Amino acid sequence: MDISVLRRQFPVLDIKVNNKPLVYLDNAATVQNPIRVIEKYNSVYKTFNSNIHRGVHYLSNICTTEFEQSRTKISKFINAAYSKEVIFTSGTTASLNMLAFSFGETYIGEGDEIIVSEMEHHSNIVPWQMLCDRKKAVLKVIPFNDNGELDISKFDELLTQKTKLVSVAYISNTLGTINPIADIVEKAHGVGALVAVDAAQAIQHIPVNVQKLDVDFLAFSGHKIYAPTGIGVLYGKAKYLEEMVPWQGGGEMIQKVTFEKTTYNELPFKFEAGTPNYAAAIALGEAIDFVSEIGFENIHNHEQKLFDYAFGELSKVEDIRFFGTANNRTSLISFLIGNIHPFDMGTLLDKMGIAIRTGHHCAEPVMQHFNIPGTMRISFAAYNNFEEIDSFLKAIKKIRVFFE
Ligand code: PMP
Repeated sequence: MDISVLRRQFPVLDIKVNNKPLVYLDNAATVQNPIRVIEKYNSVYKTFNSNIHRGVHYLSNICTTEFEQSRTKISKFINAAYSKEVIFTSGTTASLNMLAFSFGETYIGEGDEIIVSEMEHHSNIVPWQMLCDRKKAVLKVIPFNDNGELDISKFDELLTQKTKLVSVAYISNTLGTINPIADIVEKAHGVGALVAVDAAQAIQHIPVNVQKLDVDFLAFSGHKIYAPTGIGVLYGKAKYLEEMVPWQGGGEMIQKVTFEKTTYNELPFKFEAGTPNYAAAIALGEAIDFVSEIGFENIHNHEQKLFDYAFGELSKVEDIRFFGTANNRTSLISFLIGNIHPFDMGTLLDKMGIAIRTGHHCAEPVMQHFNIPGTMRISFAAYNNFEEIDSFLKAIKKIRVFFE
């Protein structure tokens, strides 16, 4: 994989920030789009924009075909058994809220238990809290140790006959930990509970194989995998999606509407009320092609080298503290240096053209675990290079001297 060739496919990487070349190390928040994805998106509006599934005319037919082809690509990419198990949403947050509502209305009653983990993004906590409030159900939490690894023995204790669902992140957006999903699934299925996986931080880094993992539901966002914002996926096993009540009512999700009784459309349309973001869905299909053509092995090898280098060099920085040092982890690093507030560091780095994330990363319980207000976080994508890491390390040293 030639990184300089790859980088040329990303127009935004050429911009200057404060007269300095952009160094983009905030990929866990959003990954940039290659030109072919941007062009695919534009081509929808330039050449065949039309509402899908509704028209008999030429444009609508092309748009519908492209939209459904994208669904098929995604379903193959995550190895779903059927493409009808891929529901388009606006992103991971929407997927998890939809799941919490539809799963909750169908399967959850008073006293039932749902398990999440201490390292979840707020979007995999709050929808379950809202559901538990509505249904008088109980939310339980798998803790993690100071390395950022889930305490699986504690998970064993939390699982009971009342557990209906376990919903955990594949990869933590704050600690970088890759969680043992297959193990979690086996244990949860052992008590008859289903498993939902928040794959927002996994989908761009590692192969996600829903059948191999035997997960029941899985959510991700397009903008984390080289595609536009406003599109995402909820995968669910057909047998559960078929039983579950729909989330939103409206166009496309119905079979027949009368004032006496409405019946619902088949999968996946039952869960896709209204006009979806079809341009972004089609562009997501292009992004999936882009990733597949590079291959996860190449992506992983490169990101691992970036991580090893950055982690090794950062370890030499005096007074640095890392948050998340699990053995099985991905290419993001959360840290604090001395007493420097993450926000100050982030702002000064920005003056030097360097984009990193600072704050609680929408995972406040992780901050509460370590009793800190927030961290600085750098995270890599396939297009990052070693020069960027050097610029970042140089800048960190400068800022340190400034604070001293
Ligand atoms: N879960 C995780 C682990 C994430 O990293 C994110 C995005 N930061 C989300 C959920 C929410 O994704 P979105 O904002 O695209 O809905």
